[in-house]
This record gives sequence, C-alpha cells and structure tokens, in this order.
Amino acid sequence: MLQFKLVLLGDSSVGKSSIVHRFVKDSFDEFRESTIGAAFLSQTIKIEDKTNHNETVVKFEIWDTAGQERYKSLAPMYYRNANAALVVYDVTQQDSLAKAQGWVTELKTKVGEDDLVICLVGNKLDLCEGETTPKAVDSKQAQEYAQEQGLLFHEVSAKTGEGVKEMFQSIGEKLYESK
Ligand code: GDP
Repeated sequence: MLQFKLVLLGDSSVGKSSIVHRFVKDSFDEFRESTIGAAFLSQTIKIEDKTNHNETVVKFEIWDTAGQERYKSLAPMYYRNANAALVVYDVTQQDSLAKAQGWVTELKTKVGEDDLVICLVGNKLDLCEGETTPKAVDSKQAQEYAQEQGLLFHEVSAKTGEGVKEMFQSIGEKLYESK
C-alpha cells in the first residue's frame, strides 16, 4: 500500500469539506456545520498498473483546513510533507478562480513544486446545469491556467458526486507514476 498526504486549499465556502465528505463517505449534507473538528480523514483507492495488470492500493490521508483559510494563512504543519493538493474554486463565483490562483502561488512557495501533485478543482458544477445559474468561471480559462502551471484540472460537484471519484483516481495515478 502506498500512502499520500493530500491537503485542501481554497477560500471559505467553495466546498472543500463537502468534496472530502463526498469522496470519503459518499454523501452530501447541505446543513453540515462548516469545518470545525473533523479535519483529518482517509480513503483508499485502487490503481491498476497497465504494464503488468497489478493492482496497488493507494491511501489518501486528507487534511482539511479546519477553517484556517479565513485567516489567509495556514500553519506550516498543514503543508509539511504534502504529496498532493486540491486547490478549489466555486464555478459560480467569478473571483474565486483568482483566489485559487493565489493559493497555488502560496503552495508553490511553501512546499516547492517538484514533488507535489496539484489539482485545480472547479466545484458546484450542479448549480450550472440547466439554465438557472450561468457558469461564472470559464472552464477554458481555468484549464489553460492549469496547463500553464502544470496542474491537473477537474470540474466536479460535491453535491451530486459528479467527477469526484474520477478526480481522485487521476490524482492517485499521477502520484503512483511519480512515486
Ligand atoms: P468549505 O468552507 O470550502 O469547506 O465549504 P463547505 O464544504 O463547508 O461548503 C460551503 C457551502 O457550499 C455549504 O453550504 C455546502 O452545502 C455548499 N456546497 C458545497 N459543495 C457544493 C456543491 O457541489 N454544490 C452545491 N450546490 N453546493 C455545494
């Protein structure tokens, strides 16, 4: 089994805890208290090695911010030895991509980019289905930024679960390849 530390970054209310809950418990609770307390969870996935068809179990140790992002800086122990990071924005909030970009910069300075898999995540995709809420952050723009910066990019909904498993799977594969 391989074990990796994954941290979450992004402004308050973009849905960081909800993404973790969807991945770990496969559930969504609209009225859950915002992150206080349960800031540490783990979940395993299986990665298939395409060359020899062997399966490897990858365990994510997931550190949620416990609301520290409100103070605009995170404790050094939060970043220390992180292998992967989800930098989350809200697809319905135009300024949240710029904020996510700020977190990417902070991450790269604090951790160093070489041994870190970073995934840019647009969350709350469900709100843009149908005509009700227009998507405020252009997918193409986010994707181009991710590509420039060497980040993975996924759009997801913690509410419906859309894209969440696939995202963790692709992060696991990248970690496995670079182990
Ligand atoms: P955090 O502060 O980044 O950890 O955000 P939370 O996970 O606490 O979520 C903030 C708010 O957004 C809560 O009211 C959630 O119910 C809501 N939320 C989170 N993810 C989604 C999503 O995918 N779709 C919708 N519609 N709401 C979401």
